[in-house]
Formats: sequence, C-alpha cells, structure tokens
Amino acid sequence: MISNDLMVLQDFEISIDHSRKTLVEIKNQLEGNNPAKIALADFVKTEEHVKKLSLEQKELNDVLLQVLERISNTEKSLYSGKSSSSKELSGLQKDLGSLNARKSKLEEDLILIMEKYDHAKVKFDNAAEVLKAEEKSWNEKAKVLMQKGKELYSQMKILETDLKKARQKLPKEPLDLYDKLKVSKGFAVAKLEKELCSGCGVGLPFNEAQKARDSKDIFNCKNCARILVAN
Ligand SMILES: [Zn+2]
Repeated sequence: MISNDLMVLQDFEISIDHSRKTLVEIKNQLEGNNPAKIALADFVKTEEHVKKLSLEQKELNDVLLQVLERISNTEKSLYSGKSSSSKELSGLQKDLGSLNARKSKLEEDLILIMEKYDHAKVKFDNAAEVLKAEEKSWNEKAKVLMQKGKELYSQMKILETDLKKARQKLPKEPLDLYDKLKVSKGFAVAKLEKELCSGCGVGLPFNEAQKARDSKDIFNCKNCARILVAN
C-alpha cells in the first residue's frame, strides 16, 4: 500500500536525520573542549610559572654574587692597611655596612623565591602527570568516537541510497503530497492507533477509522491532514 511505502520513506528519513545529528555531536565532541585540552592548558600555565620563577631566582643570584664581590673588594681595601685617611676608612665601613644589609635582603628574597619555585615545581610535575593520563584516556576515547563516526557515516550513505531508490519507486502525486506535508507539519505520515491519530492525537469517529483501515488509497487525518497508516 502506498501509505505504508510513504511510512517507509519517513522511517528512512528519521534514521538519516538521527545519524546526521549524532555525527554532529561526535564532531563537536572531537573538536570541542575535552579533559586533555584542559590538562594541557594547566600544564602550560604551570610550566610558564616555573620558568618565570627560575629566571627570577637566577637574576637574584647574579645580583647577590655581584654584591658578594663588592663586599670582598671593600673588605680588602678596608683591611689592606693601604688607606690611612680616617675619612676614607669610615666611608669604606659605611659602604660595607650597606652592602651587607643589601646582601641579607637578597638572601632573604632568594629563600622566598626558592620556596615559591619548589611549590610551583610540585604543581608543574603534578600537571605533567595529569596531562599524560588525560591524553592517554582522551586518545582512546577519540579513537572510539572516530570509529563510531566512520561507521555511522557509511550507514547513513546506505540509508540515503535506499531512500532515493524508495522514492524512485513511488508515483509523483503521493510523493508531492508527502513532501508538502513534511514541510508544513514536520512529518507527513502518522499512525492510526486505537482510533487516534499519532500525529495530532485527535480521535477519529469509529466509521472514519474503519475507512482509514480499509482504504487502499491515501487517507488523511481530518484534523492535521497527515497521511494515516493503520496498524
Ligand atoms: Zn492528525
């Protein structure tokens, strides 16, 4: 019966539509944010922090070395006995005092930055481990998703061919009606279930329902105009 053939068309279209939606979901999952991407962003952030602290530590250490050298030179001048002017000696002592104060401050800063570095390094090592685990699990998941997408795509192509063939077998008039109803109603064929149209839910009088069941031609729901197929 032609209504049943149209129902088959509709089922093909529903399956194709479903496959297409699932393929979009798969694509979004593959391209969108995933735990591995989040872990990578965290890894890069912690890595940059460690590098920054390491550089700061090195710079501070260089300054400290310069200060230590200046202290050593000042001490040499002070205790060499070459200088006898008291003004010069007190000047050197003053310099030494401020250099030692600078040294203490630098040492304190260096300890602080080393503590920060150690803390950041723990975070970085942890982020590296998380990244490794997340990448492994994501790669496996992505592989499964890609395989699923590939299979679904092949199935969809087969369904599309089947749909085309099924349409070619049908006369023009019912096909046009089907297409028109599909555009206006979303779906063209509805089931007649216990005197009720599955499309709009409205009940048919008993004799109408009987007519729909017996009809060899297309029988439309009086309420929504959809093509009715009796079980
Ligand atoms: Zn209806």
